[in-house]
Amino acid sequence: MPKTVEAYIGIGSNLADPQQQVIDVLPHLNQIRQTSLLSHSSLYQSAAVSDIEQEDYINAVACLSTSLRPMELLLELQAIEYAFYRQRSDELKWAPRTMDLDIILFGNIQQNDSHLHIPHAEMKNRLFVLMPLLEIAPDLYIPGLGSLSYLIQHAPQLRINRLDRDASNRLSEN
Ligand code: AMP
Repeated sequence: MPKTVEAYIGIGSNLADPQQQVIDVLPHLNQIRQTSLLSHSSLYQSAAVSDIEQEDYINAVACLSTSLRPMELLLELQAIEYAFYRQRSDELKWAPRTMDLDIILFGNIQQNDSHLHIPHAEMKNRLFVLMPLLEIAPDLYIPGLGSLSYLIQHAPQLRINRLDRDASNRLSEN
């Protein structure tokens, strides 16, 4: 039997009803082969990190149980991004996105190659990843980086707020 690990996925959208996009992607995560959705955070609204002016992002973090390898999971996530009509190109690096799915953590592994950087290279700078993670896994220790509370204390301050119960209820109905 392949080993099963917990993987944390960062979800972000700032185009075409982003709240609904984030809600709608959860069942897709649960349908990935050899994978199930264990839990997810509330929705958060955050200022876009970008050189160009754009709408706020809606973010959440999901916890998956998977027996896929990290690269296999990345390819599954990219297929879901494309299904949500995400365009990918060098010019669009900082452009608005209908769906962005990143592997934040994959068990305790540390990997840094041309395709994957795990833990995600930018997670320590992104309150919109750290705050939802704190909600669903407060005791998490991030390999090579430290505790979540330490990272949150030292992260650049970014405008972020957890969305109200209406949005969270819509999410838990999924
Ligand atoms: P982006 O378009 O900003 O989502 O970046 C996607 C690219 O980042 C992919 O082609 C991946 O090869 C690379 N990448 C590196 N580390 C990660 C990670 N932890 N999760 C998702 N993509 C990653």
